[in-house]
Amino acid sequence: MMTAQSPVDLTTYPPIDPPERILLGPGPSMADPRVLRAMSAPLVGHLDPYFIEIMERTQHLLRYVFQTRNPLTFSISGTGTAAMEAAIANMVEPRDPVLVCVAGYFGQRIAEMAERYGGDVRTITVPWGEVFAPQMVASALKEHHARVVAIVQAETSTGVYQPIKEIADVVHMSTGILIVDAVTSLGGMPVDVDANGIDVCYSGSQKCLGCPPGASPITFSPRAEQKLRSRQGRQAVIRNWYLDVTGLEKYWMVRPPQYHHTAPITANYALYEGLRLVAEEGLENRWARHHRNAEKLWKGLADLDLTLHVPEEHRLTTLTTVRIPDVVDDMAIRQRLLSEYNIEISGGLGELKGKVWRIGLMGYSSREENIALLLAALEKLLS
Ligand code: PLP
Repeated sequence: MMTAQSPVDLTTYPPIDPPERILLGPGPSMADPRVLRAMSAPLVGHLDPYFIEIMERTQHLLRYVFQTRNPLTFSISGTGTAAMEAAIANMVEPRDPVLVCVAGYFGQRIAEMAERYGGDVRTITVPWGEVFAPQMVASALKEHHARVVAIVQAETSTGVYQPIKEIADVVHMSTGILIVDAVTSLGGMPVDVDANGIDVCYSGSQKCLGCPPGASPITFSPRAEQKLRSRQGRQAVIRNWYLDVTGLEKYWMVRPPQYHHTAPITANYALYEGLRLVAEEGLENRWARHHRNAEKLWKGLADLDLTLHVPEEHRLTTLTTVRIPDVVDDMAIRQRLLSEYNIEISGGLGELKGKVWRIGLMGYSSREENIALLLAALEKLLS
């Protein structure tokens, strides 16, 4: 006779009870308490009229936060990488010439993805910590007539804010589509999709929008839509079923909506409340707060004799890279910050591994008291 398995000893499996960290790394940042409260609201179905209303309001709020009139604006169910893949999967057709501007870890990820979707990919690079001059993109486009150009606006691995407008102008002169990664800028620094001439822009919820990871904003310009709809023959079929915008739009844009996948209801509640918070504060006030707090951090770090990796004019206000002094043990300091002060900061990625710390001041984490505590802790640990 079958017997039920013996019950597990629950002392081995205690309930979730995480430490209350102060998240000052490259993400996730801290979720606003209002966002966490919204996440405890009752579940409804993904086709429930109430949820459909939330989706529509989310789209309106996203257009405000992106500063765009693009109708095709919604959120991808997944993290920032899923939104990146949605941008690439839908824009890059096999054998399309693609140009990726690589100035850090996330630029490299885009180039890898574009290759997997069959693009004829070229990259241009600058050292990690620098920006691209528009002329460099123009020269590359003369040799490689890319139909798609991709660039990271806020490179989380280096702390650099890439100016976009002139690059967009160059891309449009050669009739390409510009994809911009705004994962670490949206809601913290200007992205301005329409004014900058960005064709596809995506972000994530867990950085400057003050939400947990899981629902990632994306927007497509009419020019990008046209490229999507002009895919022909075998190329018309997007090679990623889940992220195919022609399927997703039947859920997000068409009424009554058609089932595509079961939307993560709670992640969408979170995004909605996060966007309401941005609208309540006002985009410009929010950018100013991130700027004010970053300046306080930069001054405090300079007072501790620490050097910043990026010149001030190209610095992100949402993520600061600090050079680790030669005599200091990277891991030991980060571990003590975590265990003694409950503060998370992060080490370097890729080329900058072991060379910099990355300090994020994003969304709800970008607050004066967090900066004061971090600087005091660093002063003690470094002395
Ligand atoms: N792009 C940038 C610039 C990022 O900083 C990140 C994550 O840190 C991503 C893309 C990928 O996002 P996720 O880790 O949420 O998938």
